[in-house]
Amino acid sequence: MYLKHLSINGFKSFAKKGELEFSSAITSIVGPNGSGKSNVAESFRFVLGEQAPSRMRGKKGEDLIWGGSDALARGNRASVAVTLDNETRVFPIDFDEIVLERVVHRDGANEYLINGSQVRLKDVQELLAAANIGPSGHHIISQGEADRILSATPKERREMIEDALGLKVYQFKKTEASRKLDKTRENIDKVESLRREVAPHLRFLEKQMKKIERAVELREQLRQLYAEYLKREDTYLAFHQDRLERERNSLKKELEEKEQALANAKAVLAKEGSGENRAELIEAENTLTEARRTKQDIVREVATLEGQLSFLERRIKTARERNNVDDKLQISYVELDKVVTSLEWEVEKATKSDDVSILRRTLKDVVHTLRQFLSRTIEQGGRSSTAEEEREYEDLTNKKTELDRRLMAATKDEAAAEEHHRDIRVKIENNESEGRAAEREVFRLGAEKRECENVFSRLEYEYNAIMRDRDEFKRELQEAVILIGRGAADYFKLEIAGEIVSEDRTRQIERRRELEKLKIRLEEQGGGGEEIEKEYKGVKERDDFLVREVADLRLSVEKLEQLIAELNTELDGRFSAGIDKISLEFNRFFTLMFGGGGAELNKVKVVKRRRTAISDDDELLDDTAESEEKAEEGIEIGVKLPNKRVKGLEMLSGGERALTSIALIFAMSQVNPPLFVILDETDAALDEANSRRYGDMIEALSKRSQLILITHNRETMSRAGILYGVTMGGDGVSKLLSVRLDQALAVAK
Ligand code: ATP
Repeated sequence: MYLKHLSINGFKSFAKKGELEFSSAITSIVGPNGSGKSNVAESFRFVLGEQAPSRMRGKKGEDLIWGGSDALARGNRASVAVTLDNETRVFPIDFDEIVLERVVHRDGANEYLINGSQVRLKDVQELLAAANIGPSGHHIISQGEADRILSATPKERREMIEDALGLKVYQFKKTEASRKLDKTRENIDKVESLRREVAPHLRFLEKQMKKIERAVELREQLRQLYAEYLKREDTYLAFHQDRLERERNSLKKELEEKEQALANAKAVLAKEGSGENRAELIEAENTLTEARRTKQDIVREVATLEGQLSFLERRIKTARERNNVDDKLQISYVELDKVVTSLEWEVEKATKSDDVSILRRTLKDVVHTLRQFLSRTIEQGGRSSTAEEEREYEDLTNKKTELDRRLMAATKDEAAAEEHHRDIRVKIENNESEGRAAEREVFRLGAEKRECENVFSRLEYEYNAIMRDRDEFKRELQEAVILIGRGAADYFKLEIAGEIVSEDRTRQIERRRELEKLKIRLEEQGGGGEEIEKEYKGVKERDDFLVREVADLRLSVEKLEQLIAELNTELDGRFSAGIDKISLEFNRFFTLMFGGGGAELNKVKVVKRRRTAISDDDELLDDTAESEEKAEEGIEIGVKLPNKRVKGLEMLSGGERALTSIALIFAMSQVNPPLFVILDETDAALDEANSRRYGDMIEALSKRSQLILITHNRETMSRAGILYGVTMGGDGVSKLLSVRLDQALAVAK
């Protein structure tokens, strides 16, 4: 026996402390109407944690406290304590005895105590749930409540039976899992919407990253090509520079020797006697040498200028290619018209003049004006550096024209000097046919020296070209370092198979072109690498995190769905088994009570039509159109009375109804026996014969659960081991007293 003791103090009509011992399997509480018996049943509900005041016939917590009477002032608190045996550890705490106490104060505050220690309501509920004592109190049947199981809907009935079978815990778990499932799905939606938000930005960054990767690839290609190009160029230039320097030095020496020999020969000739012709010859010789030197100087100048020009030309070409100035630059029509008009006017003015110098200057002016117009336009397009280079290029071109003119003049002078020299030589040869050794020597040496000079000037030209290329090479190396970093200068480490110097030069030019193309492509990929990379990494990491999050959440959904499915299977299995057992017991009790007939419980699917009406007008529409069907499992009761044709609950008399409900309640208690059952006047409607049967069943029931029976029925009283009488005096205060059966029968009357 688990229920040991109950103490009521200040609860409802129990203004003063009342105590009940439950040392018997059946305890009966008797007393006249309104004495406070039902208050005892409710005190059980109260101490077990009931939260709805209506289940204790109150509106609020305050209604549970002694309200006062003429004789006794109202109380400030109500307390109920129940003592439970725990020697078998049916409750999961390490005490042989448990005292549960609940106190309610006038302000509505509640206190809960387990063995004198304050605890939370949840602790009490958990403790009781372990012994299948739920706050719904299916084991406490209040007055008139027995009928509830008959009048309930199939679905409500199912819930009551689930409760009695101790399946509520599965329902709780199911509800909890469903709640988590909804929450998890909500979270998936949230995370996915977050992902959708960042997706466009991520795509943009991915594109940028591709560009950066492409740039890295291009830079690598550029590095390789640069290494080969620079290595070849350096080797080629070094080789030729070396060769030319050597050749130049030896030729210089030869030339000096020739000059010395010629000077000696001239001195001999001068000494050997003189003639007009000889003096003339030496004079011509000198003039020719002078003319040659002048021409050579100009040739050198031209070579330098050409170098500068080709350098500038290349730069301008590259700049134009890169910026596509020619293709994309917009020229304003109005601006162009202004320029053309001003040129027309100037040209017209010039054509009226006969002066060649004026014409020439005008032509130059025209070119200059056009160039300036172009530069201005380019400058407006942000290309000022090209414009400046183009101006410089133009200046140099002008200078070169001037030099070309001077070169032409010098060539003419040289030709004239040569002719004069030849004339004199012919004259001397004619006059002095025998000739003299000294004269011949001067001729020979002069010719040889001129030959030497020609070769030297060619070498000089070649050398200058190589030196120019060397300068260009240095510039290219600088550019390479800027573009691909200091590693560019390591080109010399590269091993190249085959002869470098003898390679066709056009291959190297091709390589240079290829380099230019690569540079342009690299520029097109754009910059901002590190920033973008950092941002991409951040955004990608966050997205990856969200992807993992969604995966985790989906896994949770799967697990929860599985859990719910498992709970459903478990619940259905236990429920079906429980129902079968209850149905059998129900039939047994029923036939026992009615002396025949039969009763059963049936599982039914109740199809519920739920209208999804949007407005009241919709009510008039065909209800198949917009209705939603939902099947709910419920329990239906089938009864058949002995010797009667009628079937169904509706046909039962009040007494028959009471018997049926008792049979069902007892059946439920048999399958999953609660520790104790409190029945408040469940037997009120029974006649004598049925009261006896009721008494028999109670005795059977008391084998498995402790019973507390509130009753006016003498038969019931006679089955109890202990009897308590409840009395109420003029002061409105309920009092408890232990009574004997004869006393009880007297009280009950
Ligand atoms: P019956 O046999 O007719 O069912 P009963 O013995 O079960 O009667 P109860 O319903 O338990 O009687 O008691 C009702 C009595 O308790 C009423 O007289 C009511 O005034 C009294 N009562 C209920 N709440 C309070 C309260 N807060 N303070 C004082 N008296 C109360």
